[in-house]
Order: sequence, then structure tokens, then C-alpha cells
Amino acid sequence: MHQPLHSTDVTSQVHPYTNLALHETAGPMVISKGEGVFVYDDKGNKYLEGLAGLFCASLGFSNSRLADAADRQMRQLPFYHSFGHKANEPAILLAEKLLAMAPVPMSKVFFANSGSEANDTAIKLVWYYNNALGRPAKKKIIARSRGYHGVTIASASLTGLPNNHRDFDLPIDRILHTDCPHYWRHGLPGESEEDFATRCADSLEQLILREGPDTIAAFFAEPIMVSGGVIVPPRTYFAKVQAVLRKYDILLVADEVICGFARTGNMFGTETFGMHPDMITCAKQLSAGYLPISALMVNEAIYQAMLAESRKIGTFGHGFTYSGHPVAAAVALETLKIYEEENILEHVRSVIPHFQQRLQALGSHPLVGEARGHGLLGAVELVADRETKAPFAPELGMAARAGTAALSHGIITRALGDTVNMCPPLIITRQEIDMLFDGIEGALDDTH
Ligand code: PLP
Repeated sequence: MHQPLHSTDVTSQVHPYTNLALHETAGPMVISKGEGVFVYDDKGNKYLEGLAGLFCASLGFSNSRLADAADRQMRQLPFYHSFGHKANEPAILLAEKLLAMAPVPMSKVFFANSGSEANDTAIKLVWYYNNALGRPAKKKIIARSRGYHGVTIASASLTGLPNNHRDFDLPIDRILHTDCPHYWRHGLPGESEEDFATRCADSLEQLILREGPDTIAAFFAEPIMVSGGVIVPPRTYFAKVQAVLRKYDILLVADEVICGFARTGNMFGTETFGMHPDMITCAKQLSAGYLPISALMVNEAIYQAMLAESRKIGTFGHGFTYSGHPVAAAVALETLKIYEEENILEHVRSVIPHFQQRLQALGSHPLVGEARGHGLLGAVELVADRETKAPFAPELGMAARAGTAALSHGIITRALGDTVNMCPPLIITRQEIDMLFDGIEGALDDTH
């Protein structure tokens, strides 16, 4: 006889990003249906998805145009690869579309299946590029503490969170970390935000000089560090950082895996923060989360170096079975069409002020040290003492407790470190924003 679903889950599945010991007793929360910005568990409870699943379900959970696009492509050509000189129509059109949308001139698109794979590919291309240019020593990559770039061996090494390194023997060599631009937490007494940004850029330059500028190849950054706790950089941070990168001929890779596609109030976070990257990675909202697909865009200089390598050594020795999968590409293409036809950017911009106003209001809650955000992204950082900003002891798991309390208010959110994060589907209405923040407020009141 088939065991009940919940116990079968515990006996059969390893859950990503889950306390496995706790899961043995707690068991799963089985989500069985989606409708607009809401999902339902298998007991029929309804929740507003305050995190768009994992920052990806931009169009909610019941978009029939996306289901139809997948169905059409499944019946037409369910799979074909892009190895050698093979191609399929949705992947070709999606690459063309992405290049047309790119916030800075980009030359070519390489498809993968996840943000991690896109970043992993970007790392390989940084190395490939410098070999092509005859600079074999210029290979080190700098990312930031609290940055998040994925979980493959290389992308997890870029990630600057201890939990992704500890006992996995990471990070690998050649990957370094510089300061996290979290002004509220790391700004010195009396230091202005501008001076703090200067200090971050100086610290980056010192690291480059210590290591030797001829050994540093690239800098990876999310426009807003989301999984690290929605850390919005100071206004002038990227201008200062990019001046340092230019000085030492260091590539900038923008990780737009969360910020891409209207999340920050512009189509790309790169535009919002004045970044001029050489490569861009995107995923998640690229397909509204309906199927796995990611993309890496490279500029002309990088593509020319790749081309030169092919002239020298032949085949470009990298690619995934599912690079440019036709069904995922068709769904992504339809997603981008919907963003345009339904003017998602205009909608997002119309609800951002209300979202940010409700977010800022949480800043006066006794548990909250800082409420921060940008666009349709927000977080509250919980503290034991609002005056000293002293954090809660990690073993208390206060943010996780608040996340659990939110469930009884009909809200799904996510605790990351000391923060409770909000990143709802882009289609969220003003009224649903109120439901989200009423629920979070109630959850904070219930958290002890
Ligand atoms: N980059 C950023 C900024 C992310 O937030 C994530 C995932 O949350 C990734 C990369 C990794 O993407 P994936 O989980 O699809 O591998």
C-alpha cells in the first residue's frame, strides 16, 4: 500500500536548503495548487506567496499563456539540442530577444538551466578569455561576502555565505571575497553612506593590489544582494567599484538572476544601479519560473576571444544537454512577450511606492533593526537591541520563527540569516500588498 505522501517524502527525498534532522520530525509542507499570487497546500490552506516561490514566479502560479506555450512546443518539438550546428526556433528567437533587451550592448547568448550553471559558465569564460588573450596569470575572481551566486562548486565558491562553504571544502582557489556594502550594519559611527561606499571601493582596490592586479580577472556582483539579506548598495557604490575595475582591466559580471526582468523597477538591476557589465547572467523570472532556463550574455570583446580560441583549438568545449531546450525557450519567449504586452514594468512601477511605504512602516516594529528594500524587493533585519543593533543569537532562529509565524497569517516568506524577505510575484496588486504586509506584521507580533 502507498504510504501517506508526507511520510513517503521523509523516507525518500533529500530536500535542498533544509535542516535534514528537523525534517525527519517536521515533515514536508506539500504545495499542491497555484492561483494568481496564491498557492494552496494539500490540506486546502491558502497562502500568499510573498517570495514568488524562490524569487521567480513573476507572473504568479496560473498563467495559461505559459502553459499553452509549453504545450504547443511539447507537441511540435519536445527536445532538441544545440550542440554542433543544431538549433531550434524558440532558442534562436529567445537569444535575439535577450540581446535586444540587454541593458548594455551584448553580443551573444549562451543558454543553461539554472543560475548556478550560468555563473559557472561565466567563470569558465573569464578563464578562457584570459587564456585567449595570452594572460594565463590573470585568473582570480573577486565576489563579495554575503553575495549569492549558486551552489555548483565554482558558483558556490563565489557565494559569500558560510553555510555554502562549511564542510563542503569551499571556496576553491582563485576565488576571493571583498566587503559586503551593507551600510546600516558596517558603516562606522559618523560615516556617511558616500564615505562608506568609498571605503568599500578602497578595500577592493587594496585586495587587488595585495594579490597583484595582473592576477585578478573578474568581479561578480548582484545589483542587490538578495539572498544575503536584500542589501541595497549605496547610490554611488557601483560607480566607485567600476572605476577600480577599469583601472586594473578587470571584467564585471552582473548576476541578474533575481534582479533581472523588472524586479527593481527597471528591466535590469544593472540599469537601476548604473552598472556596465561585460557579462550578464539571468534565470528565474526569465521563464517566470515555469521551466528551468538560464542565460549568459557576453559582450563583443569576450565573444571575439572565444572565436579566436575556436580558430586556434577548434570546438568550444562547453555545453549542457539542455542548453537552449526548445520547451523552456518557448516558455521564456512567451514570458518576455507577456512582460511587454501587459506592460509589466508600468505595473511594477505603479505598485512600488505602496510596497516600499508598507515595508518602511515595519521599521518601527520592536523586533526590527532595519527595514530596507528597492523595487519589489524588501527585507526586515531582526535585532535583539534596536539601539546597539545587536543581533539575536543565531541558535534562536528568530527570523525563521517569524517565517513560520507568517504561515498562520496566510503568508509564505523566507528567512535568510537575520532577515525576513519579501519578493512577491510582479503581478501583485495593491490590495495583495496590504495582505502581505498585514500578515508579516502579525507574524512579527507573534514572534518571541
Ligand atoms: N544568482 C543569484 C543572484 C541567485 O539568487 C541564485 C539563486 O537564488 C542563483 C544565482 C543560483 O540560481 P539557481 O538556484 O537557479 O542555480
